[in-house]
Amino acid sequence: MENFSVTILGSSSASPTSQRNTTSQLVNFFDRLYLIDCGEGTQTQLRRNHTRLSKINHIFISHLHGDHFFGLAGLISSLNLFGRNRPLHIYSDPRIKQVIDIQLEISETVLLFEIEYHPLNFRQKELIFEDKKLEIFSFPLEHRVPTCGFLFQEKPSAPNVNKKSISKYDLSVDQIKSILAGKDLLVGNGEKIANSELVIQPNPPRSYAFCSDTKYFDSLYQNFEHVNLLYTECTFMNDLQEVAHQKFHMTTQDVAQLAVESAAKKLIVGHFSARYRDTTLLQSEIQSLYPQTILVNDFDTFFINNSEPDS
Ligand SMILES: [Zn+2]
Ligand SMILES: [Zn+2]
Repeated sequence: MENFSVTILGSSSASPTSQRNTTSQLVNFFDRLYLIDCGEGTQTQLRRNHTRLSKINHIFISHLHGDHFFGLAGLISSLNLFGRNRPLHIYSDPRIKQVIDIQLEISETVLLFEIEYHPLNFRQKELIFEDKKLEIFSFPLEHRVPTCGFLFQEKPSAPNVNKKSISKYDLSVDQIKSILAGKDLLVGNGEKIANSELVIQPNPPRSYAFCSDTKYFDSLYQNFEHVNLLYTECTFMNDLQEVAHQKFHMTTQDVAQLAVESAAKKLIVGHFSARYRDTTLLQSEIQSLYPQTILVNDFDTFFINNSEPDS
């Protein structure tokens, strides 16, 4: 199940460190790439990750704090230099268009491709992207500026008739259709074969939630209950609860509570304040509250599967 993964391109908070870039993540779903946030330096991280930039068609910007979007104009400029001609979709606070337009205008950059801007809804959860296999939702967070998180939800796939039954009973197309509609099979001697013996049930759909900058609030978990893999910001340790509240960020305690409430199958955390150059203490604090937590590092990749995601 390596067809659904997320790669961390930046795990620092407001400013980069020598080890951590500002926020960006790359979701790979059946070889289609989706970029979440684009802090300064993201295109360098994408190059280091050997990502084919032309495969990115959708970019999701959680909010307009610089550590989440200052890399976007540079990335757009590079896509242009590499001869992109397909439209690029950007899901964001609509004011992003002003930011990009002024940079393109002053740098006299003429784009060879269209940018389609999709404004985020900061009041309620909303479906913002859909194709045959995947749905992406935005959900509002509580930060100092309008902010959304994103939920990547695989669509349920249909059951299949198992190959052994097709050859054993020499099934016609009509018989296969009838089995897929849930019917049993009547064979020549009048024997009835139960539908459950003929079909393979698909794996349950998988999901990934990106919970960007936010303070903790009571209904937050409802946006991603039972998610397979949950990423949240974890900017501060618990002794800075007051600061976290003032700055609309979360502490280890908030994050652990959120993980329990949402019944997330696995929790990964990032967006650490640059004051924690060594994250050992933060790690032991959060693991004492929620033992399975993983602190992310730049270029970590997590595979999202139906049991526990592996890193
Ligand atoms: Zn941030
Ligand atoms: Zn922020």
